[in-house]
Amino acid sequence: MKRIAFYPGSFDPFTNGHLDILLQALGLADQVIVAIGVHSSKPGLLTYDERKALIEEVVPAALRERVTVVSFDNLTTHAAANAGANMMIRGLRDGSDLDYEMQLAGMNGALAEDIQTVFLPASPDTRPITATLVRQVATMGGDASLFVPEPVAKALISKTSPKG
Ligand code: ADP
Repeated sequence: MKRIAFYPGSFDPFTNGHLDILLQALGLADQVIVAIGVHSSKPGLLTYDERKALIEEVVPAALRERVTVVSFDNLTTHAAANAGANMMIRGLRDGSDLDYEMQLAGMNGALAEDIQTVFLPASPDTRPITATLVRQVATMGGDASLFVPEPVAKALISKTSPKG
């Protein structure tokens, strides 16, 4: 059976932490679907098209054909099932992630028995990174390049610069 993993998130923006989890997931699955949750009530900093283009740009070329980037606005388990996924990837940074993720995995498991949640541990150097803090750093003129791949850092600068 082909192992198809669904990796959901807002990815606003895609950070070094997200890339770390995506690369780990590619070690387990044949295909990884990075699924960007979009909600019209929460437009975010980057548009869906910008997030998708940046993710596609930062995936190493040799792995590119095993990664698909899609959007979803429905229940995560429905979106994963519609995409034909049999694994749900979630990254874990710390104990507070674990408490929430255990609830989510339990409920998702009840909603979609055929989709196995797989927790992947954050690597030590990307563990502190959250997209929320990256957005705050970027909008206040800080250097986000420590936390995100280079193309993402450039996009954040042009998005948040007063002239942009
Ligand atoms: P964030 O939680 O940073 O706002 P998302 O909602 O887009 O980002 O997260 C999507 C998924 O990526 C979740 O499973 C989350 O736990 C995981 N993730 C986010 N940042 C990291 C990180 N630094 N290391 C490992 N996993 C992460």
